[in-house]
Amino acid sequence: MIGTLVGIRATRVRSGAATRPTLEASSRQERTVSLPTRIGPSVRTRVQIPITFDDGFSVTAQVVTFAGLSDGLEHLALVLGRTDDVPLVRLHSECLTGDVFGSARCDCGPQLREAVERISDTGGVLLYLRQEGRGIGLYNKLDAYALQDLGFDTYQANTALGFPEDDRDYTAAAEMLTALGIAELDLLTNNPDKVRQLTELGVTVRNTVPTGVHANENNVRYLQAKADHTGHTISLAS
Ligand SMILES: [Zn+2]
Repeated sequence: MIGTLVGIRATRVRSGAATRPTLEASSRQERTVSLPTRIGPSVRTRVQIPITFDDGFSVTAQVVTFAGLSDGLEHLALVLGRTDDVPLVRLHSECLTGDVFGSARCDCGPQLREAVERISDTGGVLLYLRQEGRGIGLYNKLDAYALQDLGFDTYQANTALGFPEDDRDYTAAAEMLTALGIAELDLLTNNPDKVRQLTELGVTVRNTVPTGVHANENNVRYLQAKADHTGHTISLAS
């Protein structure tokens, strides 16, 4: 039967052997539809970016953006080299002063440079996480530097400012890995907290691969504090 296609009175039209509701019918019939309250993290875009460091090392990264990350921040993944085996992964927390300006007060710039090359060689992913200053933000990090100039170490300074010693949370990192289809990885780190958090978040860390030590006269106290305080596996000649 063909319904009367007048106003909202039409309820069905026949299409071949199947009977389907019309737009009018669906507006007439009040139905409850369950929609998911939260859409899980997913890959949003992938773009190729050729990157070159000051020393001339260059590589093309596939830069990935995400939708639906639980903290709502604009984290990036750089996919480097082949990724058909268990990937080598680095969780790099944003450090404007170290990554961009080459600050010698920390080792972030050299760590980033090293990680990009080592991951390119092996195949894997660098997650660039927007948690500046161990999660306390750029201005607070600079305030902490001012306290360090008065003799505080990097952890004492954060505490004196009313922050946790390390406020970084790797939930978004685990979500990005899941969106990329990575359940098992080798982790490039000296930081046991990254291994612990990722494992608790359901990511299998097959191997921990230590990073190099990038000490200079400005950051040696910072590196020593990391080694003494949070069990970073850093060997410093004293
Ligand atoms: Zn830094």
